Amino acid sequence: MFEPHPEHILLTPGPTPIHPRAQQALIRPMLGHMDPEVFALNSEIQADLRVMYGTEPQAFTALLAGTGSLGMEAGFANLVEAGDEVLVCANGSFGSRMAEMAGRYGARVRLVTAPLGEAIRPQDVAAHLDGVNMVAVVHGETSTGVLNPVPEIAELVRGSGALLTVDAVTTAGMEPFHMAEWGVDYAYTGAQKCLSAPPGLAPIAVSERAFARFSARRTKVPLWYCDLEGLRDYWVDHTYHHTVPVNLHFAFHAALRAALEEGLVERQRRVALLGQAITQTLAPLGFSHYVERPQDRLPTVLALRLPDGFDDAGIRQALRRREISVTGGLGPTAGVIWRLGLMGESAHPAPYRALMVALEDLLG
Ligand code: PLP
Repeated sequence: MFEPHPEHILLTPGPTPIHPRAQQALIRPMLGHMDPEVFALNSEIQADLRVMYGTEPQAFTALLAGTGSLGMEAGFANLVEAGDEVLVCANGSFGSRMAEMAGRYGARVRLVTAPLGEAIRPQDVAAHLDGVNMVAVVHGETSTGVLNPVPEIAELVRGSGALLTVDAVTTAGMEPFHMAEWGVDYAYTGAQKCLSAPPGLAPIAVSERAFARFSARRTKVPLWYCDLEGLRDYWVDHTYHHTVPVNLHFAFHAALRAALEEGLVERQRRVALLGQAITQTLAPLGFSHYVERPQDRLPTVLALRLPDGFDDAGIRQALRRREISVTGGLGPTAGVIWRLGLMGESAHPAPYRALMVALEDLLG
């Protein structure tokens, strides 16, 4: 029988441990998805999301009933029409996922790439902007621990007339994200990442410019479930679209409130300090930064190159037996790196202290 350990230490790059306030909120008595109290709660979520993403006052925000990938898919489904030119920045698995999805919605996809472990170069984006309808970029590429230069890319895109879609899955709520100031048109994340809410919700933000572009579509959105018009019916006009997962909304509301109460700047500081401490502590054991340039390092997913001769799978299994979960590389970086999650509730000293003690024991 499945019996989860009460004190499992989850240090993966998502999901993160659920915030205690979100855990409490999950078990509130159920209300109907059309209940006035749920609409009031939803409005608070929408307002808090505007703060988290740094949007214009009128930007449309909502929760999609699905994971971060649904946030990604909804952006292409709503804002791309067949034949549109979409420039995708792809320097890891999630950039490649964006390119795959854009193609499935009929886009003509142009790729700007960078070697694994390196950030996208804004000048490469500038060189391919002619005739582009949308630029899509992953802010924090979880597969390699790289932070792409979204503000610099946004500055280039702003003058071009293209929309800018940003995957904020490992950044929003923990790292600086200024949608209106930067000129981002569509952003999404997953509830289970920096906010430490349960998985199953994708918070999105849509700029007024993007909504106008959506409203001028020539064709229907192929994905009925996430059509922005239908979502607006529910989130703004309070008419039925689909049955939202109310208990997940309760938990998400509590987690987002807790994040904003702590303060986004304070959360950035917490991650930065912890990342430094972990790297310094693991250096004598032979771990080193995978991403060479300090400015390209994603603070929320610490990608560390493994020591020579390190038994990656064996050590992670041994840690798992001690109720500590750590994630290795993905695809080409499997066996080369570990990716330590420093998002939300995983970004605290105590769980990492437990990892250090266990590692010293296993390696020493
Ligand atoms: N984008 C990035 C940067 C991610 O890290 C992930 C998941 O790890 C996703 C998208 C997809 O999110 P999900 O697994 O919640 O569908």
